[in-house]
Amino acid sequence: MGKRDIWILTESVDNQLKKVSFELAAWAGSLADRNMLKITAVVIGSVRDIEELGRYGVDTVIHINNSCLDLFNPRLWAKVLYPVVKDGKPDVVLGAATTTGKTLLPYLAVKLKTGLTADCTELTMDTEAGVLYQTRPAAGGNIMATIRTVKGSPQMATVRPNSIRITPFRKNSHLNILTIGTADKLPNPDLLFIESIPFDNSTKDIQEAEAVISGGRGLKKRENFRMIEELASLLNAHVGASRDAVDKGWISYPHQVGLSGRTVTPKLYIAAGISGAIQHIAGMQTSDTIVAINNDPDAQIFGISDFGIAADLFEFLPVFIEHLKDFRRNHEK
Ligand code: FAD
Repeated sequence: MGKRDIWILTESVDNQLKKVSFELAAWAGSLADRNMLKITAVVIGSVRDIEELGRYGVDTVIHINNSCLDLFNPRLWAKVLYPVVKDGKPDVVLGAATTTGKTLLPYLAVKLKTGLTADCTELTMDTEAGVLYQTRPAAGGNIMATIRTVKGSPQMATVRPNSIRITPFRKNSHLNILTIGTADKLPNPDLLFIESIPFDNSTKDIQEAEAVISGGRGLKKRENFRMIEELASLLNAHVGASRDAVDKGWISYPHQVGLSGRTVTPKLYIAAGISGAIQHIAGMQTSDTIVAINNDPDAQIFGISDFGIAADLFEFLPVFIEHLKDFRRNHEK
């Protein structure tokens, strides 16, 4: 049996690969023993740090290099990608479940006449049979559905950002880079670029944050969220929330962590007054260290926590905040 050929469609911003590109490499590498896999990354546009991909397990890069492709244009990108994927005949094509990936891959899947599973949280592969099992939440998040592509090739899926941990796979980059030129003049796009508006940082950063302090319904009212904000500012962290806190209007939706909110993978995640419903856990369980504060010793959140503080948050948090302030004062002298 030959090696399975897994392709990943990378993404970049300001000519630099985005973190999610390395996550895609990690997902591809997780599908089977590395000896059974050939991982190819497709890079579109003028991207500078391509070599980095080699350290994350990618064997080959197909670089479609044309500055006309620097700005994301789904139809144009799909048009350029289609012959490359069709000729390359990969077993699997993976993209990120980002705005870019979720827009581009459907265009490409239609052209290739194959199936696509969006927003996967788990992928496994039967390498012998070459079948990719694509798992994603379904029925409003109440069940996890595992899907396989019965008709069409390649098997295509998008995976949620932050749903896998990344670590360099090799010390040095071992990479074959294949640059594919496209005709200098690409077909006139039917979308016109007008303006680029930077993404609101408060919504973006929580996914990149090193520490997240989240509050839930246990905070009882909006004013009490100030304790979470104060703690977050002392720890240089971002503020997160459960859906119940967001639904109550205590904090805006971009702060929601969980299945229908953001997935986060910080080094430190503190959950205060959050019960640990499966839909919340889905968005934070890959955090390095999880600390939970809850006055119910049987709360589900303790089951996935590294440190559990069974206490009333209204007693614990003010004391904790004062201790941190003291600590800072003493260390800033
Ligand atoms: P609760 O479950 O009410 O928990 C409050 C906790 O606070 C309790 O454990 C309680 O013991 C504790 N508490 C109370 N008072 C104190 C105190 N004084 N001190 C310390 N602890 C105290 N939820 C999300 O969070 N994110 C999502 O993205 C999400 N998506 C969903 C998608 C779907 C399709 C569905 C059906 C649900 C989704 N939910 C999501 C909702 C989820 O099921 C829970 O309802 C929600 O997470 C509960 O929020 P909570 O933990 O803040 O509230």
